[in-house]
This record gives sequence, structure tokens and C-alpha cells, in this order.
Amino acid sequence: MSTRLPRVGLSACFFHADPQRPIFKGKTLLYVEESMAHYVAQAGGLPLMIPTAAGAISLEAAVAEMDGLVLQGGSDVCPRSYGEEPLDPRWEGDHLRDLYEISLIRAFRAAGKPILGICRGLQVINVALGGTLFQDITTQLDGAREHRNWDVYDQLKHEIICEPGSWFAKIHGGDSFTVNSVHHQGIKDLAPDLVVQARSVSDGVVEAISLGPEPKDDDFLVGVQWHPEFQTPEDRDLLSREPILSRFMDAVRRRVEAAHVGS
Ligand code: MN
Repeated sequence: MSTRLPRVGLSACFFHADPQRPIFKGKTLLYVEESMAHYVAQAGGLPLMIPTAAGAISLEAAVAEMDGLVLQGGSDVCPRSYGEEPLDPRWEGDHLRDLYEISLIRAFRAAGKPILGICRGLQVINVALGGTLFQDITTQLDGAREHRNWDVYDQLKHEIICEPGSWFAKIHGGDSFTVNSVHHQGIKDLAPDLVVQARSVSDGVVEAISLGPEPKDDDFLVGVQWHPEFQTPEDRDLLSREPILSRFMDAVRRRVEAAHVGS
């Protein structure tokens, strides 16, 4: 049995070159948000950011060294990544990051390694598998509730309801929960192979997805629209952030052990 820590690749967030930025002027920054790294670490995974490809280290070469992938939140997905033009310049998103993350999703799936998408991560999974997004929920979905509020940020909360009999309801031991909400984009057309696990109450916005009704170890692909990593022990009213991560980490560990036995 392997004794090394499971290595969880984190997709990079991008600060593109900005001549006005006071540090690393004009340079592109790739970064990890701290609570995401801590969320993974608290479950026993070693969080390692996967840089964009350089030299001999292609994305595939990096993926070969990792045991699973967590897609971080952050900037919007570019509508061009799913065949639309931005309806507003503010919704241009980050096409370069989309291409990088879609390549990561393909490479991890090809290697049979688990993937967990958070917020933007859920959205980019849907796009990678052929789905589309609302560029802006408020303007494109009649009767939409508020899903993002800059002033209160991750303190904005709403109810979700699990699909009846779903894997998600099973692992959380219930059907109806409260989650935080920091997004203004969301799934419009669900990709063909994805299954909805939970939706926002009142407007039906997709809040959790999986590949197939129940994730499999060798093709584990799960996404949530909220930010479990932002939750603190004070957030007792929120859905526990542990079950999803522990299922992901279980799948990661089983893949590590299977690879070890096979070597
Ligand atoms: Mn929401």
C-alpha cells in the first residue's frame, strides 16, 4: 500500500498580465486561493497547483504525477467556449483559462483520475462535456433568485433541494439544505452525460452535478455550484462540506492504491 500523500492537482486561477498591477507588473500570475488549498489538505490531500504547460511538462505529464483534480472557482467562463458571443462585455470571462481547464478535464478523465469542480469548476465541466451556461442568471432566467451579492459575498445563502433518490441525497442524509452562493453564471443546457444532483429552490438553477447517477472511481466527476471551501465552523446552518470531499478523496485513494498494485 502506498504511503505517500495523495496529490490533488488544483487548476490555477489566472491574473492575466496587467501593466497597472503594483506587483509582478505586466506578468501573468497563476495562483491558488488559500481556503481551497486548506479544504483539500484537511482531508489529507496534498494540494498542488498545476501550471500551464511549459517545456517538457505538458498538461498530460503533470496529470501523470497527480492523483485527482479540483477545479477552483474564480473568473467567468467565456461564452465563446460554448459557441456563444458575450451578450455584455462584462461577461467576456476568461477564455484562456477555459481552454486550460478543459484540457485538464480531458487529461484527467483519460487517465481515469477523479475530478471535483467548485463553482466555476461545475460550469467548466458542463462546457467541457458539451453543455451551455447562462451568461448571467438574473437577466436570462425569469424568476431567478439572487445567487451573488458582492457586499455579503459568501454570506449569501439559499436553499437547495436534492433530486429524489439521488446519490447526493444519500451521502448527505437528507433532501433539503442551505448552501452559500457566489455565482452569476449557471448551467443552461446540461451536457448529455451529466446528471443533476441538486437544484436551487424556487428557480431550479442547477447546483450539483455528477457524471452518471452515481460517480464511479475510474470516472469520478462531480461539481457543486457553491463554495464548500469558504465555509467556517460558524456556518452551522450550511450543508456539511465533508461528504463530497471525503467521497472524492476516497476515490482518489482507491485510484492510488489500484495504480500501486498494478505497478
Ligand atoms: Mn446559487
